Amino acid sequence: MLIDNHHRVHNYLRVSLTNNCNLRCFYCMPNEELPYTPPASLMQVDEIEVIAKTFVDLGVTKIRLTGGEPLVRKDAAEIIERLSKYPVELTITTNAVRLHDFFDLFIKTGIRSLNISLDTLQSQRFKDITKRDNFQLVYDNLLRAVELGFSVKVNVVTMKGVNDDEILQFVELTKNLRLHIRFIEFMPFSGNQWKNENVIGWQEILKIVGDAYDMVPLVRNAHDTAKKYKVIGHEGTFAVISTMTSPFCGDCNRMRLTADGKMKNCLFSKGENDLLAALRRGDDIQPLILQNIKSKAAERGGQITKDFKTADAFTMENRSMINIGG
Ligand code: SAM
Ligand code: SF4
Repeated sequence: MLIDNHHRVHNYLRVSLTNNCNLRCFYCMPNEELPYTPPASLMQVDEIEVIAKTFVDLGVTKIRLTGGEPLVRKDAAEIIERLSKYPVELTITTNAVRLHDFFDLFIKTGIRSLNISLDTLQSQRFKDITKRDNFQLVYDNLLRAVELGFSVKVNVVTMKGVNDDEILQFVELTKNLRLHIRFIEFMPFSGNQWKNENVIGWQEILKIVGDAYDMVPLVRNAHDTAKKYKVIGHEGTFAVISTMTSPFCGDCNRMRLTADGKMKNCLFSKGENDLLAALRRGDDIQPLILQNIKSKAAERGGQITKDFKTADAFTMENRSMINIGG
């Protein structure tokens, strides 16, 4: 089992398949074009499988594929087929631009739950945020996923002055659709234009919803990152992921593997262990995994203090979100 120095058992691995993406969300990636990562520097299919298997042998029971956009990788289908053979809950976080090509594969491989990112219900605003004109495609794929019976969580990075005027419209979607809206507090990463003034926190979001609807809190399950609620009478639910104003690190069970094969024990960790280089040298990667877990900080990688307002995306030692894998 993977237990850190704060007695937390780690059984959930997020694997980034690529740092490439078909959208350009300003909060996720630097403004300038990302340097091209040669495919040889990325984990290849066999390598992903070997590393994932090592984690499964160490007690991992859930794997989420992410990126960049995981579905732009040419061999995404093969990776999904291979990982679906292991005794884990396999899930995926996607921007849904290519989702229509993958529904059959997901059904065949037992993927039942999808996290879909969508920050606005307005076509022009979608273009402003992502620099691509794909709103209708993404929205249609989202509705299709619900229709096909997938459990769908919608990730909405909620930012003051950008899309906070749409909070109620997103909650209204849960009236007749069985989906789970998750408002994510805006987080600072290298090069992502984060400003404390743009953060709209959990309590503010609750006030906006509470002033408009009768709602009830839902039970928190162990390891939940989301504080969950339901508007009375609605089919779906909504939640806030309050990383900035009320972190949930106390029972964190998550680890990350970047597309170039580095292990990170937290979204905000400074340190990384290069599992891919070790694997390619023919070394056993288990000791590196254990070392990485033992070095995990108690909260937010030790990089964001209780007063998150003092955080500075420029001086934090980290990658951009697109290079980590969300
Ligand atoms: N491309 C896929 C997608 O967008 O769903 C997967 C990768 S993306 C990095 C994973 C999640 O991280 C998305 O839901 C995205 O909205 C979120 N994210 C990216 N940058 C963020 C930031 N600065 N603050 C909060 N969430 C962020
Ligand atoms: Fe791409 Fe997802 Fe980042 Fe947007 S949030 S740029 S879709 S990786």
